[in-house]
Amino acid sequence: MIRESSQNDRRDHERMVKDQIERRGVRDKRVLDAMRKVPRELFVERHDREFAFHDGPLSIGHGQTISQPYIVAYMTEALAIGSTDRVLEIGTGSGYQTAVLAELAAEVYTIEIVEELSARAQKVLGELGYSNIHFRAGDGSLGWPEAVPFNAIMVTAAPDRTPERFLEQLAEGGRMIVPVGSGEQYLELLTRRGGAVERRELIGVRFVPMTGRIQKGEA
Ligand code: SAH
Repeated sequence: MIRESSQNDRRDHERMVKDQIERRGVRDKRVLDAMRKVPRELFVERHDREFAFHDGPLSIGHGQTISQPYIVAYMTEALAIGSTDRVLEIGTGSGYQTAVLAELAAEVYTIEIVEELSARAQKVLGELGYSNIHFRAGDGSLGWPEAVPFNAIMVTAAPDRTPERFLEQLAEGGRMIVPVGSGEQYLELLTRRGGAVERRELIGVRFVPMTGRIQKGEA
């Protein structure tokens, strides 16, 4: 059941957007509106609810984490998602980032390798009424070939190297953001233009490693 947000939640939620996200430089109004709208407290574990608006990642079980709110906003802004865009997300996790993407895009395709996490995210997002999210439980190492092309790809687990394969699934002008590296990690933003790919290195980050075939060098 969806619980009404408490007064404390509403206050902490607004502080999260103002102090952690706007103050650090995220300006895109559509992104800020989405960060205000999605009830983050529903995506954390029940016993962590009081920390839902905390300025950092939190455990969601299975050795995985829900990303820091600022990083969710930062990555979403970098992808410059338009309302007619089709978006691929690798690493559904809690489904929180998925909800933010679903607020901005036309369709979101999201893949999660841990079946229980995918099932939990499907339940929460279904209860919230999202009807533009397509779920897949399984290895996202090969992307989602049946649903190409995508205008944006958000990867929320870190492969050791840039996952070149995903670039083939981008439409012309499409953007991909991905944390890359095994020790030191940084965000890479790649834009497909004509036959070429523009590459920008953004900020340093810490994500859980990507698993599955990509990590075994098979994808
Ligand atoms: N955006 C999520 C982040 C979750 S952490 C959130 O904020 O909740 C990254 C997720 O990627 C984990 O749930 C992990 O299980 C998943 N993952 C790792 N490797 C994967 C792969 N090869 N395919 C699909 N999902 C993967």
